[in-house]
This record gives sequence, C-alpha cells and structure tokens, in this order.
Amino acid sequence: MALQHREVGVRDFVLLDQITMDKFMDNLKIRFQNGHIYTYIGEVCVSMNPYRQMNIYGPDVINIYKGRELFENPPHLYAVADAAYRILKQRHQDTCILISGESGAGKTEASKIIMKYIAAVTNIHGQNEIERVKNVILQSNSILETFGNAKTNRNDNSSRFGKYMDIEFDHKGDPVGGIITNYLLEKSRVVQQQPGERNFHSFYQLLRGASDSELQQYNLSKDPSRYHYMNQGSMDILSEKVDYKSTNNAFKILGFSTEEVQTIWQILAAILHLGNIEFQSIEDDLVISNQLHLQFASKLLQVTENELSNSLTTRIIAAGGNVMQKEHDATQAEYGKDALAKAIYDRLFSWIISRINRAILFRGSKTQARFNSVIGVLDIYGFEIFDNNSFEQFCINYCNEKLQQLFIELVLKQEQEEYQREGIEWTNIEYFNNEIICELIEQPHKGMIAIMDEACLSVGKINDETLLGAMDKNLSTNPHFSSRQLKPMDKELKHREDFRITHYAGDVIYNINGFIEKNKDTLYQDFKRLLHHSKNVNLSGMWPEGAQDIKKTTKRPLTAGTLFQRSIIDLVKTLLKKEPFYVRCIKPNDIKSPTVFDDERVQHQVRYLGLLENVRVRRAGFVHRQRYDKFLLRYKMISQYTWPNFRAGTDRDGVRVLLEEKGFGSDVKYGHTKVFIRSPKTLFALEQQRNEMI
Ligand code: ADP
Ligand code: MG
Repeated sequence: MALQHREVGVRDFVLLDQITMDKFMDNLKIRFQNGHIYTYIGEVCVSMNPYRQMNIYGPDVINIYKGRELFENPPHLYAVADAAYRILKQRHQDTCILISGESGAGKTEASKIIMKYIAAVTNIHGQNEIERVKNVILQSNSILETFGNAKTNRNDNSSRFGKYMDIEFDHKGDPVGGIITNYLLEKSRVVQQQPGERNFHSFYQLLRGASDSELQQYNLSKDPSRYHYMNQGSMDILSEKVDYKSTNNAFKILGFSTEEVQTIWQILAAILHLGNIEFQSIEDDLVISNQLHLQFASKLLQVTENELSNSLTTRIIAAGGNVMQKEHDATQAEYGKDALAKAIYDRLFSWIISRINRAILFRGSKTQARFNSVIGVLDIYGFEIFDNNSFEQFCINYCNEKLQQLFIELVLKQEQEEYQREGIEWTNIEYFNNEIICELIEQPHKGMIAIMDEACLSVGKINDETLLGAMDKNLSTNPHFSSRQLKPMDKELKHREDFRITHYAGDVIYNINGFIEKNKDTLYQDFKRLLHHSKNVNLSGMWPEGAQDIKKTTKRPLTAGTLFQRSIIDLVKTLLKKEPFYVRCIKPNDIKSPTVFDDERVQHQVRYLGLLENVRVRRAGFVHRQRYDKFLLRYKMISQYTWPNFRAGTDRDGVRVLLEEKGFGSDVKYGHTKVFIRSPKTLFALEQQRNEMI
C-alpha cells in the first residue's frame, strides 16, 4: 500500500531546519515527486493535486486513520476529517473544514474525499434513516456537479459556484441531516462560453444521454453544434452518456418526483430553444425570425406562444398609474432573451438545491436540535486572474479576501493572542493583514461595492466609464487601487477602462466594461410574470415575485454585488463560530500533468496562500498545546510520579514532573493553564509510551 513505502521530506513544514521559501519548495517538490501529496503545517493540510489516481483512499486506509491523532500517521485528508469529527463527537462543538486554492487545485475532490471518510466512519449500527441521509449527502454531489460544473480551460470539471455544506450529527456522532448553501453561480456561461470552454455539463448530458423519444418530446437534436448556447466554445465529449443516467439515478435517490425531474430537463431544453431565437428589425417593427424555436420554447415552459413572444419583444412600463407597452429594439430584445435564459437556469439551480435540502433537513425541522453539532465543508472558488477580468472575478476575488481575513483572524492572530494570554514568551511574526483590501471593496458608502450601487441606482446618464471616474475620485488614496487616470504612465493599464486591485494574492487588472450591467442584473418584470403564470407548477413556483401587481411601484431589487457581499458576510459569521480546519490546495502545473512540478507556478501559490508565514507562526510557536488536567488524564500512566494520581501539587506541577522525568523538559513551555509542546517528536514519543502502557 502506498502509505507504507518510505516517506521522504518532512511531514510537517514546521520540522524544516530553516524556514525559507527554498526549503519550503524543496520539501513540497520532493514529496510530490515521491507521491506524498499531503503535508502539514501544524493542523493545516497542504494538498498537491496529483493529477492521477492515488491508491490511498481505500477502506484499509480509512481504518488506519480512524480515531487517530494527526501526528500518528502520514499526513492525509482523512486525518483532518477525523480530527474535525473527533472534536465534534467529544466536545459537541461545531467544526468546519475550509478548502481553498485556485481553480483546478483539487478543492472539490478534497471535499468529496472528506465526505466519503465521514460517511465511512459513521453509522456503525446501520440505521436506515442515517444510511438514507448519508446517501443523500454523497449523491447530492453528483447533481450539483451536473448543473454547476463545466469544462473550462483550467479544469475539465470546474465548479462554477461556491458551496458550503453543513452536515449535522446527533449526540452519538451519526449524520442526521445537512444543508447546502450555494454562492454566485456563474450564470453568464449559460449564454456565452470562451474558446475551449463549454456550457454546464447538464446540457451535454441531456443531448447525449436522453433517449430518442425523450429528445423528440423536447424537439431537440443530439447535436450540440445546432444550439447557439452550446456551440461557441469547445465541442469536446466527456462522459455524458453515463452521467445522464447517474444524474437521474441521483434524483431518484434524493426523492425528486418524476414530474420534477421532467421539469428540470424540460427547462434545459427550453433554454436551448431560446438561444436559437433571433430578432430582426423590419421597418420599426421587431420580428422573431425563428418561429419554430419560439414555439418549442413556449411549449416546454408551458406558456402560450403569444405570451412568450410578447415578453421577448416588448415590455410593460407603469408610470404614474398608467400602464404602457413599449416595443424593444433588436439589441434590447437580444439582451432580454439572454437575461431570461440566465435567470431561468440560475433559479433552476437554486431550486434544485432547495429540493436537496428538503431531502436532508434534520427530521423535517428547520432548526438544529439542541444536542446536535455540525461539520461545515466549504468548497468555494479560488482566487482568479484571467486575461480578461470582469465583475465575476471581482466578486470571486473579494470572497477570497474575506476568507483570507478569516484565516488571519483564526489562525495567525488567535495563535499569537493565545501565547500572550498564557504568558508565554513570544516574538511577533510579521504578516500581511489584508483588512485594507476588504475595506477598499466593502466599506459602507465609500467602498467599491457602494460606489457601484450608487451608479446603478442613479437615474442620470451614468455608464461604466463614469463609474470608473467615481472610483478614481473616491479611492485615489487607497494604495491597493489604481487606474489609468490615477497612474497615466502605468503600462500594465493598457486600456482606458482598466483598473487594478492589488489583492493579497497579487495584482489583478479588471476591465470596467459591463460592471454596471452585471451589478444591476436587470431582468424585465415581464419575464417574471410570464414564468409565474406557467402551467407548470414547479416552474411557476420558482418565480413567486411574478405575482406582483404591475401598477404597484416595486422596490428596486438589490444589486448583484450587494447580494453577494451579504451572502459572504453571512458565511464568514457562520464560520467564525466554528473550530476551523484548513486544507490549502495547490496545483503543480497548468497542463494537468502528474509529473511536472512548475516551480514558478507553485511558488506563486505558496506565497499568496501565506503558507510561509503560517509555518513561521506555527514554529515560533508550538505544535501542540493541552490543558494541564487533560494532559495528565491522557499521559499520567507513563510516569511513576503521576500514576495513578499526582498528589504532590497542582496539575501543572504534575505535568512538569512527568515531562522532566521523560527528558522533554527543554522542548516545552508552561503557560497559565496549558502546556505547550514545541516539536511533534515529543508528542509522538509521549503517544508511543502511552500505547505501550495500555
Ligand atoms: P477545484 O475544485 O480546485 O477546481 P478539482 O477538485 O475539480 O479542482 O480537481 C481538478 C482535477 O484534478 C480533478 O478533476 C481530478 O482530475 C484531479 N484531482 C484533484 N484532486 C485529486 C486527487 N486527490 N486524486 C486524483 N486526482 C485529483
Ligand atoms: Mg471545484
């Protein structure tokens, strides 16, 4: 078995003889080249994407990690999962596992490995209901990947949404429920794909996996190149045929009804037909030139052809109590159609998730039962720098800034504070605090999101260019923001519309074009009414706001930026309440190779993930700390002075006597309430001696 061959390098970066970038990289490289894809920094697990099947996830390996401390076995995600699970089980405390890294680094695979482990070590009594919940949790991944993942140039199976899943456990430690929260699906992909990329997997599964009679029912052809929403990028074939079957099977396991599943595929078909509808202006009149697709789409959405055609070509405006119908021009109609397609898919995705949640909600109750605890698993898009960065990258990178804040808050700052609190001598480690970048983006009234919202709400003529002007004016003093106007000589800012944010992970140049539109995320009211009045109850249920009276002046919906900001702030709040574990994923190269270790690319990731600072803090510190009473309880049997009980003083004295006797005195420090152990070797030796005694 892979775990048993001789381990090379150090398992924990804190054991390096010097903490330098070179030494760090050497260790990472030699371990990667020898098939050790996991290495710790204390409790943080650094994971390298192996880009090959590793023989390290089988039941035999699971057994090795069950109930064991982190340092007892070679580094593995299973050890992290077990540590999180043990805290939950022993202390009834909520924990979370935060998985970060850039696209293709292995986050989603890691989250699945963790869930698999948890599923494998729970429900030893084989209770039906618990087995059902476990199944739903595992199967939900397959559905989410079908509808939320796509082939990109970085990753054939890239998640295009963020996912946070709470798994709820009863007091015995068995999973009894869960809830998934999704973040910002990249819906623009529904209508537009870059060269080499594809639409969401779901569309290809439908065309390639559905039977002829099903396709006939949807008036679809097997050939993706016939559909505008599928033929702009890559025409690669993946494993859709099999996947379509497993998706439908997963729907069944999750308790979706036949009608619900039918609605889902029907909606996808409707979107494809919508994509092929074209508009022409003929003498002031707007005509739909591809009537057949209009007819198919309306049939599938279960609305009349007339209703659909009306809402695509006109909009109803309510002004001063009067209601008027206004015709679109071709550009508006095009825009409206794409917005409709994106919105339908986005709603469908959220609806599917809410249906999954219903299937796993703890015994039908919305609140967590009193003695239950949760493990949260966060698999969210990593930092993105593309050739062309827009509003989506802005949101994603903002999210990463917030998560980095959380990391600093939880790992670096708390660690230092604990030493101070315990009265342990301590030299401060310098690390970059990215608070200033978070402020740049989210400060009320002054930050970028606020400035964007103001631009979107203003009635006057404001466009992307004037928006950038407003940013220049307000943000010129922030060293993390620059634009052509502020730095005319800056060659990286090639276009007038470019601006730069110096993120903690590096510089990103954004192009302001489209920011206002994407932030507003307008969907004409007409579409909401249209879909609300669909004869398909599932579809109409996805559009409750379509019931609103036209004449009632409606409040402006919140902007996409603000909605996203709120969801991320909520997420951070949730995570702050839990005991965190970190998995930091690294991509060895950009060519999906199992052997290439691209020094430059890896070093860049190590740097922006702040891994070196992490090691320094950890090492200047101590690898392990334990309250005196707990320490004694665990190790008192190894010393004649403390067994069966220490009576010659306080617990602190007892721990000191024990450690001195065993010759570890120089490797530890005694805090007010806890003992701090510097090296894992000491801990390991203690564990070994304990094992020999019991
Ligand atoms: P991310 O979610 O970070 O974008 P993924 O988890 O989708 O990345 O991983 C990208 C690809 O890398 C996977 O499809 C798989 O081929 C490979 N991969 C990642 N982690 C592993 C692993 N532990 N073992 C084998 N292959 C992996
Ligand atoms: Mg992913």
